[in-house]
Amino acid sequence: MVLMVACSEDDAGNEASGEGKVQVVTTYSIVYDIVKNVGGDHVEIHSLAPIGSNPHEYDPLPEDVKKTTDADAVFYNGLNLEAGNAWFDKLMETAGKDGKDAPVFLMSEGVEAMYLTTEGNEGEEDPHAWLDIRNGIKYAENARDGLIKVDPENKEVYEKNSESYISELQKLHDDAVAQYNEIPEEKRVLVTSEGAFKYFSEAYGFQAEYIWEINQENQGTPDQITRIVDIINDKGLKGLFVETSIDPRSMEAVSDETGVPIRGTVFTDSLAKPGENGDTYISMMKSNIETIKEGLME
Ligand SMILES: [Zn+2]
Repeated sequence: MVLMVACSEDDAGNEASGEGKVQVVTTYSIVYDIVKNVGGDHVEIHSLAPIGSNPHEYDPLPEDVKKTTDADAVFYNGLNLEAGNAWFDKLMETAGKDGKDAPVFLMSEGVEAMYLTTEGNEGEEDPHAWLDIRNGIKYAENARDGLIKVDPENKEVYEKNSESYISELQKLHDDAVAQYNEIPEEKRVLVTSEGAFKYFSEAYGFQAEYIWEINQENQGTPDQITRIVDIINDKGLKGLFVETSIDPRSMEAVSDETGVPIRGTVFTDSLAKPGENGDTYISMMKSNIETIKEGLME
């Protein structure tokens, strides 16, 4: 394999020489962080959908096409995440990545898919597997296996990095189970803008309600708002949440109409900007534990 020699800025804005490093492209910030933890100093990563944005929909820039064309490996979530406006498929085609020359790795390989249920979306896979930390562990294993495939010389490094990272994730999952179990069962109902919490709910014993099921638009329709207002009133729910990567105005309208307060902001589809709380997968999941627990215990 020929490693690309490049000089560019990584996503944290640091100058990196990139010499001899595996050139990786990831589709969004959460996959970026997991691959970075496993690849360490041996990889240079360009992440596509910017931090804080909605990775369901994206319009690749000329720079993205160039970096993807030059990449030694591409890592993507799959499960329908990058399917909005077909941006990922189009990019792979434009960049000439058919999975033969430069491998394209599916981070959610081995995850048991859950499915969308609302009209028009039925039968489509729900992408938000990473909100169950056990799936995050699968992502880390897939990152490890992918990097070993493109850079077998550093197999031991990737094995060692992934081993310690996975043990941290395992601890985090165990802690999440313990923390969420302290919330009385009848209070374990999450109301968010997007229905991103299916995998999460199954893992940690929650019910999840939402305004719209998946981020194809960023505002709820009047029918969607009426529907969730009825659910909140019928169930007597006491707390709503907004997401860092979604416009809060629809949930604010729901809060106005029901008189139920917004209790906090959770991370779903994106990390926080570097240096802020929630700027890694581990720190975003920790922040969610705290926000959800505090919000629902009130
Ligand atoms: Zn989403």
